[in-house]
Amino acid sequence: MSSWLQKQVNERPDHPAFYWQDEAWSFAEVAQEVKRWTAAFSLKIPNKEKRVALFSRNSKEMYFSILALWELGKELVLLNTHLSLQELHYQLTDAKVKLVVVSTESLPFLIELDQLTLIEMIEPDGTGAAVEAEIDSIYQLNATASIMYTSGTTGNPKGVVQCFSNHLASALATQKNMNITSEDCWLCPVPLFHISGLSIIMRQLVLGCSFRLYSKFDAKIVTNDLADGRGTVISVVAIMLQELLENYPKQGYSSNFKAMLLGGGPISPKALEKCESYGIPVIQSYGMTETCSQVVALSFEDATAKIGSAGKPLLGMQIKIVDDQEKPLQKNQVGEILLKGKNVVHNYLNGTQWQAVKWTTDDWFKTGDMGYLDEEGYLYLVSRLSELIISGGENIYPTEIEHVIQEFPGVKEVAVVGEADVKWGAVPVAYIVGESTVTLEKINEFAKHYLAKYKLPKQLYLCHSLPKTASGKLAKHRLTTREREAFLSK
Ligand code: ATP
Ligand code: MG
Repeated sequence: MSSWLQKQVNERPDHPAFYWQDEAWSFAEVAQEVKRWTAAFSLKIPNKEKRVALFSRNSKEMYFSILALWELGKELVLLNTHLSLQELHYQLTDAKVKLVVVSTESLPFLIELDQLTLIEMIEPDGTGAAVEAEIDSIYQLNATASIMYTSGTTGNPKGVVQCFSNHLASALATQKNMNITSEDCWLCPVPLFHISGLSIIMRQLVLGCSFRLYSKFDAKIVTNDLADGRGTVISVVAIMLQELLENYPKQGYSSNFKAMLLGGGPISPKALEKCESYGIPVIQSYGMTETCSQVVALSFEDATAKIGSAGKPLLGMQIKIVDDQEKPLQKNQVGEILLKGKNVVHNYLNGTQWQAVKWTTDDWFKTGDMGYLDEEGYLYLVSRLSELIISGGENIYPTEIEHVIQEFPGVKEVAVVGEADVKWGAVPVAYIVGESTVTLEKINEFAKHYLAKYKLPKQLYLCHSLPKTASGKLAKHRLTTREREAFLSK
């Protein structure tokens, strides 16, 4: 073993490394356990199988499997457990992977897929000593650690090839940004098959901090842990933060609690106010699968003054805003956000057709997100490039309209997209899940107080639900195809 894990074992063997429910392992104990898993996998997985997929919710078995498979030098394809069989088939075929390590509970589901070798993720009964000598030493910086598919919000998910060097840069940037030391304990209620979860394992391995894993998010359990000092840092998405606020304990969180790292999207001003009144430090962040976690973050101190901002670039991250000719724009001008840095990946799996679309010739990554930088270098996100509506030469950002409509009584969910129009080229239309009394006239009567006329939706479609990705993101592109019929209320 000559991995990052071994480095931690050498430096702090007895330091707490991993917590799962009532169990705890030091770094030395984790390494010992990993050795057993490695031995078991090496008997079941032929050496020539370089790539292995994992299909499991968060569990201690999932954690040890990830570490053990890395010790064997495997490239891990991390599959979202909410995918449909069809979506799984797409990703497994794209990744050319035949072997899936799968949790016991998901075995019956995966058996439906043909031509796969399934290996059940169960605790090994052997000691692991026998095959130790055969184990490859890995964690070469340019080796592929993980292949993770993007959420598929704008189209088919793309396989992102994440190297150990990308993960290392990301962990070091987070260390600097959040002042993480080996004394921290990072709580992980987010899935390990997402970069938000996997990146916490990486921080544990690189920075030597402790790691507490949850099978799923349970606000009461997490609140207890934070109140009792069992976690100094936690990664959350907005909906989890909301629930934690509802469960905030009278006595507050323990004094060792440092910060909540919020990913995936912005926080509502109301929730932010509540966090402030409770004294909960929230760090808002912007990142994507291709950047191996956060690359821009907004500190708690700046949150009120810079409300709505995604923050400032992290250590080693370069950012620029460009027009459609890739020419840099001035401060406060909206354009596409380009990123460069060691945590940004260089290609997609089987993605030759994407190379020129997503990377410039001098290796800037074109995020497909639109935004601007203010005078002080804070980033503001405005829209996805693919969701921008150009109507009669005016740029319309759907999120601006959605934020207004969302406030109208009876509206549960809203998606605004562009629809082709002979006169204007495109016009905004709204897909709404809500009460049947909600009409276009009523919405526009309300919205005209906040929005210019050309931004008012020209059609309203009542829906029973809106298309979502396996990560729960709104997949608006599906509303611009024939598929939209399936979502309309009868
Ligand atoms: P696909 O690339 O397949 O269309 P996706 O972009 O949703 O899917 P992810 O990598 O999971 O896949 O998500 C990253 C995206 O999430 C970012 O590019 C951005 O659009 C959005 N995002 C991330 N953080 C924030 C944030 N703080 N505020 C708003 N949007 C965010
Ligand atoms: Mg994306």
